[in-house]
Amino acid sequence: MALMIINGQPVAAASGETMEVRNPATNQVVDTVPKASAEDTRKAIEAAAAAFPKWSSMPAHERASILLKTAAHVRDHLKEVAELLTAEQGKPIRDSHIEADRFAAGIEQYAGLVAGGHLKGEQMSLPQYKAMGLVVRRPMGVTGAIIPWNFPLTLFANKMAPALAVGNTVVAKPASTTPLATLKLAELMYEAGLPEGVLNVVTGPGAVVGEELIRHPLVRKIGFTGETVTGQRVMASAAPEIKRVTLELGGSDPAIVCDDADVELAAKSIAIGRFFNCGQACLAVKRVYVQEPVAEEFIEKITSRAQRLKVGPGSDPQSQMGPMHTEGGRAGIEAQLKDAVDRGGKVLAGGKRPTGDGFDKGWFFEPTVITDVPADARVWKEETFGPLLPIMVVKDFEEALQRANESEYGLGSSIFTRDFGKAQRAIDEIQAGYTWVNSIQVAYDELPFGGWKHSGYGKEHGTDVLDYYTEEKSVILAGV
Ligand code: NAD
Repeated sequence: MALMIINGQPVAAASGETMEVRNPATNQVVDTVPKASAEDTRKAIEAAAAAFPKWSSMPAHERASILLKTAAHVRDHLKEVAELLTAEQGKPIRDSHIEADRFAAGIEQYAGLVAGGHLKGEQMSLPQYKAMGLVVRRPMGVTGAIIPWNFPLTLFANKMAPALAVGNTVVAKPASTTPLATLKLAELMYEAGLPEGVLNVVTGPGAVVGEELIRHPLVRKIGFTGETVTGQRVMASAAPEIKRVTLELGGSDPAIVCDDADVELAAKSIAIGRFFNCGQACLAVKRVYVQEPVAEEFIEKITSRAQRLKVGPGSDPQSQMGPMHTEGGRAGIEAQLKDAVDRGGKVLAGGKRPTGDGFDKGWFFEPTVITDVPADARVWKEETFGPLLPIMVVKDFEEALQRANESEYGLGSSIFTRDFGKAQRAIDEIQAGYTWVNSIQVAYDELPFGGWKHSGYGKEHGTDVLDYYTEEKSVILAGV
């Protein structure tokens, strides 16, 4: 059994209860983890609170130096971490390696920024005689990180690394289906010299562990990534304590393919954008609007790419797309596909579970492309969290722009065009936190990331995230 990490120590749940973690490719148990209660969670919060005074008062370069050692130690164990991630999450082993590496890079990024003195204040003279105004930033205290299962490691780093770098302490709650690689990473960070209590990882149900983190008065900030409906609950539960929240929620990213696009580039980028991580990415391309003159060529190219993708267990180095993460997730995609087909949609690629050796136990689904789906179908309105790509042929660029904004979500968006004027209109008019022009939808650590509308509140990545993990204070210094 893997154990939780509280105050730097491996700990079981006080009740002794456990939860199974299963492999999505085989449905076999990989390991078990403690099923923590609210009381177990409180112990982790108290450990983090006790560690805060020393950690936050340490010179920034010392904190950074410790964090850089933890990142280096993680880099020495990438293979082990990646194998755990593939076993519990399902993604291809190559992608797990990239994700484990990005975890270490996330720590390096924020340790580097803080060591480099990035957490600067401001200074200004004030009208009062001899008075000077200062603006300083201070760490908040204990911060909670609530993490989903789709990119468990990068989304853990996005919260934990900036929080620790600026002097906060952390209690993290991984998704119940992907706790193993996260626990391993915390163990590695302690091996490399993280002081006791600075990082705690509690495993257990969201409604118990997550709620306790959100409601506990000692936790001053929650970084949450997950579904919009859960985010709404988080925001409501955080209200009584006026708790700071960053919410990174669902998305239904549109991609516009214009009549002057590089169609090959568009097909390649959108195929990666949709089918990476078996379509289970917040930033996946989830709706395509293509202009009529290039529609046939684009549809032919992307259909062929979907058909060529090699689906298989993540542990097979040849697999380009693994299984979906859960049986329920696959049932959700199948229901959305059925709704689209019942309304007249045509399946051009995939559309079913692959059969044969190795596919019967896991939650596999073929990369799927559909066209001729009317605008009232579920796929245009809901988030599709799996390998299902609906394509709509539009009469002109105006219709594409209008349809792109016909969504409650506003996370990412992309446009493929050679016309700078059209790109500029997309940048100005699409309501989303990211717009890629002629590019694959990947998030960059260097740029602020966060959704508009129902896709979220607040930013991760970039330097903006440091503001979201500190409180600002104005100071007046007057002479006597
Ligand atoms: P989820 O909302 O079901 O769970 C996310 C986390 O919240 C898990 O750790 C879960 O245990 C916890 N949780 C559940 N109920 C809770 C409660 N009442 N209080 C506190 N915590 C609770 O999401 P998921 O299915 O794990 O992840 C998929 C979703 O996440 C998709 O909608 C996807 O778009 C979104 N996502 C968004 C981003 C982004 O950056 N915007 C990134 C990745 C995933």
